[in-house]
Amino acid sequence: MRIVLLGPPGAGKGTQGVLLGKSYGIPQISTGDMLRKAVTDETPLGMQVKEIIRDGKLVPDDLIISLIEERISGDDCRKGFILDGFPRTIEQGEALEKVLPGSVDVTIYLNVPREEVVERLAGRLTCRKCGAVYRKRDISVCPVCGGDLYQREDDQKSTIEHRIKVYEENTAPLVEFYRSKGKLVEVGGMGEPGDIFKALQENISKVGS
Ligand code: AMP
Repeated sequence: MRIVLLGPPGAGKGTQGVLLGKSYGIPQISTGDMLRKAVTDETPLGMQVKEIIRDGKLVPDDLIISLIEERISGDDCRKGFILDGFPRTIEQGEALEKVLPGSVDVTIYLNVPREEVVERLAGRLTCRKCGAVYRKRDISVCPVCGGDLYQREDDQKSTIEHRIKVYEENTAPLVEFYRSKGKLVEVGGMGEPGDIFKALQENISKVGS
């Protein structure tokens, strides 16, 4: 099963991606996590994208396309994969079709209102080690893996508005791109993650089989 998760930043793509990955036994691939790791590890790619990520801009298509091409050619992706954060532009969507024609079985669009997204992003902490996200409260260590929790630099209020604008201009058109292929499932992203996951599973079989 090859699944694409679409939706604004803060819609819950990471959380649902992890649940789906466990349920289907396939890897959840977050381009954001991959890029942040490259920044932490100070690789040449990390140096190149550090400021782009900090400013909430998009990494150039050619860079991210070759990163994802390499990742999905890995042995662990033979049974499928879940893409979280890719594609983010029509060009990236078309590149994915070229690499693996008809490759996407289902695209899940997590629909969350703009005001909720702003509140979620400004009020969340991310685990440095496993990328899990939590609402800000009195914890500093990830309950899942023990990693440090921190506020992402691009989750500062000043950058959030810009990221949403970038999403609306560049990524939102992918909703119609996949809808027109008959591969889109739209799920409301408000509420408890477990309930959203159930709704998602109920819907996914409609287009995924
Ligand atoms: P995310 O964790 O998905 O919110 O991604 C964090 C940041 O990584 C984004 O704001 C972009 O700067 C960069 N990024 C992640 N995925 C992509 C992509 N597919 N295309 C371009 N930039 C990306």
